[in-house]
Amino acid sequence: SSTGDSAYRNEPPQDPGTEKDRVRVIVRVRPLNSRETEKSDRSILYCERENSITVEGAKHSRRFTFDSAFDVTSTQEEVFHYSGVKRLVDMAIDGYISTCFAYGQTGSGKTHTMIGPGGANIFRMDENFRIKNFGLVPRAINYLFQQLREKSHETNAPYYIRVSYCEIYNEQIHDLISPSHSDHLQIRGSIEDGFYVENLFQTYIETMDELLTILEEGELNRAMASHNLNDTSSRSHAMLSIQIEQDIQGTDDQKEQMTRQGKLVFVDLAGSEKVKASLSKGKQLTETNNINKSLLVLGTCISALSDSVKRAGHIPYRDSKLTRLLADSLGGHGITLMIACISPASSCENESLSTLRYANRAKNIENVPIVKTDSKENVINRLKHEVRKLKDENHEL
Ligand code: ADP
Ligand code: MG
Repeated sequence: SSTGDSAYRNEPPQDPGTEKDRVRVIVRVRPLNSRETEKSDRSILYCERENSITVEGAKHSRRFTFDSAFDVTSTQEEVFHYSGVKRLVDMAIDGYISTCFAYGQTGSGKTHTMIGPGGANIFRMDENFRIKNFGLVPRAINYLFQQLREKSHETNAPYYIRVSYCEIYNEQIHDLISPSHSDHLQIRGSIEDGFYVENLFQTYIETMDELLTILEEGELNRAMASHNLNDTSSRSHAMLSIQIEQDIQGTDDQKEQMTRQGKLVFVDLAGSEKVKASLSKGKQLTETNNINKSLLVLGTCISALSDSVKRAGHIPYRDSKLTRLLADSLGGHGITLMIACISPASSCENESLSTLRYANRAKNIENVPIVKTDSKENVINRLKHEVRKLKDENHEL
């Protein structure tokens, strides 16, 4: 299979359903912060040749290579440009499931890289600051709408964009667009057909600004929950899903109208650090257990998928909410980019090494991307069903 670095842009796999596509992995090192500089922490990470990173540990020195390595001087624009996110957007427009997830310990720069400095705060900054400091998600949204404008000139069929935004905290799913609508959200589906969150609020959007507003509101809701509930944001997984649908003509022998259903998913994972046992009492114990559970299962799935012997066996996707929702992204039919975020500080050596080892394993995971289509009739029926259910719920209120 061709997994070379020639960007796949506008060049989907030749033979859909058989061509393998390796999970791409990039790493970004954030600068030392003032707290670290004050206690004269030093930097032990060095990036070389744009794709390798060396950890000068207390005892050993270790080198890792990835698809790209971004050092402390990298700008948001450079990370967007060389991360492969554009390819994810292009493929999602073409009907694939594209996923980008950020992994790393709390404070390593996941939210900074995905959204921008301060998460929700960036939306309150002036326009010049926003343009310069926006993270991958707003940049990808901007690129998505650019591409859609160009493509809808080429094809005559319009695109429909639906968006949902949720958070998994303590193995419970919360709606970040419509928080009051959050009770008992359950995952439905199967590994074969894909998993989804039932009753999650979804909204059609038509412009980039509408989508950015939803992102801002979602980030604010996330920050608010974190303020009320003891910093949940470092312990929750936030998942933004942008569904991109387009009606296409069926093939000759199949006159039925089809809808192509691509999806672009961004996940800002919970902090990967081990939760200290001293914090784990009573309610906190169940919380940390469950939170560890999602990340633990993610780790187990990544290890199994990256091992050619275990890959053939059972992958425990079903053991956590996070891994069910990421099943297509890891060893499934999607296209995936992992961003490993790390602190350069010597005091973070163990956590950084642990992140780099995870990332190193994820590199070996192979997906077999396929375009998702469904008959237009099915799509319409499903939407009608959802509308009916929402109406019923409103009656109950
Ligand atoms: P996480 O989401 O992984 O917990 P954050 O993204 O909130 O971490 O980053 C922690 C702090 O470090 C924030 O103040 C953030 O703005 C800053 N930071 C992270 N990455 C960078 C970077 N590449 N350049 C400058 N500051 C950064
Ligand atoms: Mg964060």
